[in-house]
Amino acid sequence: MNQLGATKWIDESRQGTALQPEEPSATSSRKCYIESYGCQMNFNDSEIVAAILKEQGYGLTTDVAQADLVLINTCAIREKAEQTVRKRLQEFKSLKQNKADMLVGVLGCMAERLRHRLLEEEKLVDLVVGPDAYRSLPALIAEAESGQKAVNVLLSREETYADISPVRLNSNGVTAFVSIMRGCNNMCTFCVVPFTRGRERSRSPQSILRECEELFEQGYREVTLLGQNVDSYYWIDPQTQQATTFAQLLEMVAQINPWLRVRFSTSHPKDITDEVLYTMARYPNICKYIHLPVQSGSTRILQLMNRTYTREGYLKKVERIREILPDCGLSTDIIAGFCTETEADHQETLSLMDICEYDMAYMFMYSERPGTLAARRYTDDVPLEVKKRRLQEIVEKERTLALKNMQKEVGKVRTVLIEGPSKRSDQDFCGRTDQNKMVVFPKKHYRKGQYVNVRITGCTAATLLGEVVEETIPEMVA
Ligand code: SAM
Ligand code: SF4
Repeated sequence: MNQLGATKWIDESRQGTALQPEEPSATSSRKCYIESYGCQMNFNDSEIVAAILKEQGYGLTTDVAQADLVLINTCAIREKAEQTVRKRLQEFKSLKQNKADMLVGVLGCMAERLRHRLLEEEKLVDLVVGPDAYRSLPALIAEAESGQKAVNVLLSREETYADISPVRLNSNGVTAFVSIMRGCNNMCTFCVVPFTRGRERSRSPQSILRECEELFEQGYREVTLLGQNVDSYYWIDPQTQQATTFAQLLEMVAQINPWLRVRFSTSHPKDITDEVLYTMARYPNICKYIHLPVQSGSTRILQLMNRTYTREGYLKKVERIREILPDCGLSTDIIAGFCTETEADHQETLSLMDICEYDMAYMFMYSERPGTLAARRYTDDVPLEVKKRRLQEIVEKERTLALKNMQKEVGKVRTVLIEGPSKRSDQDFCGRTDQNKMVVFPKKHYRKGQYVNVRITGCTAATLLGEVVEETIPEMVA
């Protein structure tokens, strides 16, 4: 699968990563190991967990054998993610045989559904903590230490962890993710998120701005505002009753400093507004890049998915984006082989991809999730072989479109924020363009966190190659 793009929901290369802080804490007597799976929001949650545990005197380790507390932050989006987690828990269980006082805990989206099995039947873990219960971790650890099975999987209507400054983990020190809301009120029939993460709630703009300002002061130069459906961000000030919309929040964050780039994810096609698009157009430091998951190109399938837009409605939104933001990067999520999907439906997905000319896509085979509306109402009737073949065709289409878009960049000069050394060569730096395309160029004397103008000289389907033509760029806000 294509791994282009910073704003990733499911970044395959990061799955199961053991998280480490930017500056390892040498003084902590107790060590915690946190492994994370799933979307960026889950990785962000692990940073909140690390902050809560830091208060309790825990330092982080990337060596599970050194840990007093092993936590695995889980994802339930697809069956494969669940299977991987179960395998890891078996491995931790055997490790525990030589280290009896080591505690193992499950966090996140698998917690609620699998708590009985994991705690009581299979006795794989000591504590199970749902995504809204991380504040109770210290108490749960104490319970588990006293030999009790510790569980809190209650979902909340209020919890946003607004006051907790996440400990940045595995960070490049330049780009950071900031959660602006939790949960989801949409009921896409294939999706477990509304069940595992609860009702949608927005975090106060003050706490978001404070976190972004602190990040800027610490040297970060890009923030990505995160939510399952950022366009439905809505916060009412309890004192003044004044509402803040997503467009307003975006503007406030953009105004922190012209040198702070702002990105966001994910936009829902039914909710993205012209106001958001115009706000993006007004501020040069709001990156011209939108992740707009379509899921399917067939109106009939979209209706079965309860996405509440049609093929035509989606295409109109894309047209609007192209009108207001002519140079905007566009990416999407696509599911192959949803219930009853015919060959004609699949062809509609492929033709929609051609029309939208996506820069990048996350592509999945439909995976039935217990408890979802689709699992209750429909039959998962597309044979695995057919799902696989359709997914392959979607992936091939995506590669062709991505390469074409990359080739169009050759010869242009793009402003790039330097994120750090390139993965392939320590002689090169890498960074992203406004449109979220990764660029690699010779390191020379440039610095991480600096903006440079780069002439694009070549490309692959995933990376642009270039050379710096200018170091200082004009003020970004007009
Ligand atoms: N809130 C975002 C939205 O509505 O676009 C996406 C959230 S979800 C974490 C990320 C992606 O996972 C979805 O857009 C969808 O493509 C994919 N996904 C969710 N449930 C799935 C399932 N049961 N089978 C396959 N893919 C799934
Ligand atoms: Fe899941 Fe739909 Fe909510 Fe996205 S908008 S998290 S796909 S229910």
